[in-house]
Amino acid sequence: MSAAFRAPKGTFDLLPPESELWLHVREVMAAPLRRAGYGYVETPVFEETALFERGVGESTDVVTKEMYSFVTRGDDHVTLRPEGTAGVVRATVQHRLHAGQLPVKLWYAGSFFRYERPQAGRYRHFSQVGAEALGVDDPALDAEIVSLAVHAYADLGLRQVQLMLNSLGDAVCRPVYREQLQAFLRALDLDEETRRRVEINPLRVLDDKRPEVQAQVSGAPVVGEFLCDACRDHYDAVRRHLGDLGVQWVEAPRLVRGLDYYTRTTFEFTHDGLGAQSAVGGGGRYDGLSEDVGGPPMPGVGWALGVDRTVLAMRAEGVRWAAASRCDVFAVPLGDEAKSRLLVLVDDLRRQGVAADLAFGDRGLKGAMKAADRSGARLALVVGDRDLEAGAAQLKDLVTGDQVQVPLDAIVTTIKERLT
Ligand code: AMP
Repeated sequence: MSAAFRAPKGTFDLLPPESELWLHVREVMAAPLRRAGYGYVETPVFEETALFERGVGESTDVVTKEMYSFVTRGDDHVTLRPEGTAGVVRATVQHRLHAGQLPVKLWYAGSFFRYERPQAGRYRHFSQVGAEALGVDDPALDAEIVSLAVHAYADLGLRQVQLMLNSLGDAVCRPVYREQLQAFLRALDLDEETRRRVEINPLRVLDDKRPEVQAQVSGAPVVGEFLCDACRDHYDAVRRHLGDLGVQWVEAPRLVRGLDYYTRTTFEFTHDGLGAQSAVGGGGRYDGLSEDVGGPPMPGVGWALGVDRTVLAMRAEGVRWAAASRCDVFAVPLGDEAKSRLLVLVDDLRRQGVAADLAFGDRGLKGAMKAADRSGARLALVVGDRDLEAGAAQLKDLVTGDQVQVPLDAIVTTIKERLT
């Protein structure tokens, strides 16, 4: 006999009842976006590989080491999406959404794939909720979108999420900074691979977590000192709006992000209950991305919040949340005729909005009552042959233990009354 299959390394199955929490997190993250006029968008889980190479950036870890890329039977080079922004920008350009009212506001939720080294909070298949606002470079929009994420975390009951904020400059000032940073980094004692990185993606070196590198880069120039007037004005305005919105943040002059497309405002949401993988979400402005992927000039700002890590953060904070009741009424038929009758009655209850379930599989009264208890239902509805003859059912309150006889033809109304 061969060994049983297991979920691939770096992935996990979401099973009930915990899976409810993932649904809850996605819903709570999406709610502030929907109230703010963001429309739901769904793009393919795979895209042409070149979209990510050009969009995310050829020198990033995501593109060089972490993509699930393959050639299809039709010789197409495709990649399972490692992030959501490139696909959403592609879709916006393809369908000319930017020809309508601006900003184009979109949100999405779904699975993302990165071939990373798995550890707590870092998976190869993970879930994000994301938001993008395109076509306008108004700093008030940066503030709006950041504040919507702040609302989402607060609505989830999280109190320890911190907003780390920075500006990475734009095509005018970032090259100047990049050169200065490279000059500084070239003078350091770094290993071969890091030296190579200094030449292709120097900002990422600042993000190197190794203590020996951190110690050396602590005196590196920071991008904030090099911002051009336009970028400085933009950043000042973002901070002013955030202040007006009552959003608190920490200035993070060394915050760089793993994806190349960011310009100007960049941010990360961190939680210190998570160990090494402390980022629960992140985002920023990406004013050059559309052109990078062959579109028209189209500024944009967005974020993606990690659903899995947000769940870990909720657990770390001991946040309590009320799962929607899985079952209000559990029906227990004793005999075939009772089962036929209750199958229809349960169906009726469900159509009237009551969560109801039925004991399947002839387990006898004891087994069926155990199933009723396990279901978490408030009420059990027990019907035997004698009840059928009398046109009645036994309605048992599983919390108090009280039991009453109720006429079968009044059962739906009685149950609905008892549940309100
Ligand atoms: P990023 O696009 O890398 O900024 O990711 C946005 C958010 O998605 C992060 O802050 C994490 O919460 C989450 N995330 C990214 N990569 C992973 C991963 N490999 N496993 C779990 N969550 C992830």
